[in-house]
Amino acid sequence: MSGHKVKGSTTIFIIFATPAESEEDGRISRINMEVRAKKALGQHFLTDRSIAESIVAALRLPEKGSDVIDGNDTAGECTTDGKTSRFPSQVLEIGPGTGVLSQYLLQRPEADLKMIEIDTESVDYLHRHFPAAAGRVIPGDFLKLDLDRLFPGDFNVIGNFPYNISSQIFFRILDFRERIPQVVCMIQKEVAERIAEKPGSKTYGILSVFLQAWFDIEYLFTVGSGAFAPPPKVQSAVIRLTRNSRTNLGCDEALFRSIVKTSFGQRRKTLRNSLKPVIAAKASREGWDAGRLGEFTSEPVFDLRPERLGVEDFIALTEKLS
Ligand code: SAH
Repeated sequence: MSGHKVKGSTTIFIIFATPAESEEDGRISRINMEVRAKKALGQHFLTDRSIAESIVAALRLPEKGSDVIDGNDTAGECTTDGKTSRFPSQVLEIGPGTGVLSQYLLQRPEADLKMIEIDTESVDYLHRHFPAAAGRVIPGDFLKLDLDRLFPGDFNVIGNFPYNISSQIFFRILDFRERIPQVVCMIQKEVAERIAEKPGSKTYGILSVFLQAWFDIEYLFTVGSGAFAPPPKVQSAVIRLTRNSRTNLGCDEALFRSIVKTSFGQRRKTLRNSLKPVIAAKASREGWDAGRLGEFTSEPVFDLRPERLGVEDFIALTEKLS
């Protein structure tokens, strides 16, 4: 891998073997490809194919031949982890780039794959080198994609996410949580830890609470920066999100969100201090005098900082402040 810098982009050469060719005739056929890796698009291309295979293998899909496929009541069954769970065959890959994951996804007959890629150079590359990708690549921005129009029913999400917008991608996934039973993604290791972290750790935060409310999260493995071209400055990690069985929070969701955001916005303060406006609003609604307010805020939960609270604690706190 060699490269030189040109104004915010790095020109790299990726030596790339297509699995079909290497399997068919036992030779490794090499495509010498020039790609401008664009910093602004978070482009770090994975070059380690065994890692790409592991990421794709982590996506559970309905077994081929089972009843399928694209709606809540027609999803296939999958029992890979001992539990019976349901995953659809529709898959959305975010940011396929040069297709390192896509090539393996396209080989899985159980997958009905679509890809969304913002970079036109990558889109052209995918069309040139993966005939099977025809009609499956959508040029555009995932954050603006009309998911309702693209997918008639449930769909899985997979991708080596552009790290610069991974939080925005997760918030979008949360908006569509009823239709996304599974996400397998590579992100910055620090963000992966934060999302998977239990309460009490320093990195636990807003996204941890929001995602943990709706998804079971597994930290699968860490990937060093040497597996990419150009190598990112940070380590990476692969996580898997599986939609849990929660159908509602059992509390006012807008208030829940606002309480989580407000308290982590001042994470070094106790909840008594960071949530002062929310507590004051409650007191005025209830017509409390200072004595009653003092009694309320002397409850031990208000001594805590937000990182001590799990999803259930935030739900209880929301109910208390409703
Ligand atoms: N999957 C490839 C590329 C990962 S880099 C690999 O593993 O090698 C992230 C990819 O996301 C890049 O191809 C980048 O062009 C694409 N991307 C960045 N922002 C995007 C957006 N908003 N919507 C869709 N794709 C995006």
